[in-house]
Amino acid sequence: MTTRETGTVRTATSIILLYHRIGMPRPSSLVWGQYVAPPLFRSQLGCLAAEGWEGISLERAITGPSDGRNTFALTFDDAYLSVYEHAFPVLVERGLTATLYVVVDSVGTVNQWDCQRGDCVERIMTLGQIREMADRGFEIGSHTLSHPHLTGLDDDRLRRELVDSKHRLEDLLGREVSSLSYPYGDHDQRVIEAARAAGYRNAVSTVLGTVAAARSTYEIPRINVRWNAIGPLLKRKIRRAVRKTMVVPCQP
Ligand SMILES: [Zn+2]
Repeated sequence: MTTRETGTVRTATSIILLYHRIGMPRPSSLVWGQYVAPPLFRSQLGCLAAEGWEGISLERAITGPSDGRNTFALTFDDAYLSVYEHAFPVLVERGLTATLYVVVDSVGTVNQWDCQRGDCVERIMTLGQIREMADRGFEIGSHTLSHPHLTGLDDDRLRRELVDSKHRLEDLLGREVSSLSYPYGDHDQRVIEAARAAGYRNAVSTVLGTVAAARSTYEIPRINVRWNAIGPLLKRKIRRAVRKTMVVPCQP
């Protein structure tokens, strides 16, 4: 239904969904739009499945050959405790996987990078919880050490944010960390080259688009799913991402 028609050739669409917090929005939060209520999250997965979308890993979405099915991969930035509590069980139940991007210095604490915006009350997963997800086959990626705007850092600090976070996560988890999420989606060519030099195999941004629209494996677009994403907003976003008119799943 959502497969693009190009003459007689059918081209499957692959998208990466970006989530932050799974829970009821806190009215006092300045980033309340980042919350997706648990029933809405379940509903989104149900709609995608009902419309024939296949949930796959990020790695497969980026590198895997298409078998003609539309596919989606799930990513969660910041490693909020609410993702462990409300999304992880649902995903396990449905046999889905996801990539979790961890801010290494904030593991087991709160979202310190949002303090200046008056919103540093969200708990971050503990190392044990992150390990549990990794043991269940979820990919753990780096979201740097401290969640800075990377383009504003000098070369040495940039290298430490990318290299040290990767190595510390690998030491803690005992497995390779090959994916990076740029905090705030902030990146430029210098940051991309630093990510490549640090040994990452891919990096995701916050630019809206499909996987096919990626300019490189270090600029993978995503679709940012927000509090009202089951309705016209998600429909509009997917349409914009694929740049084609199509029937979109998950009608409100
Ligand atoms: Zn973030």
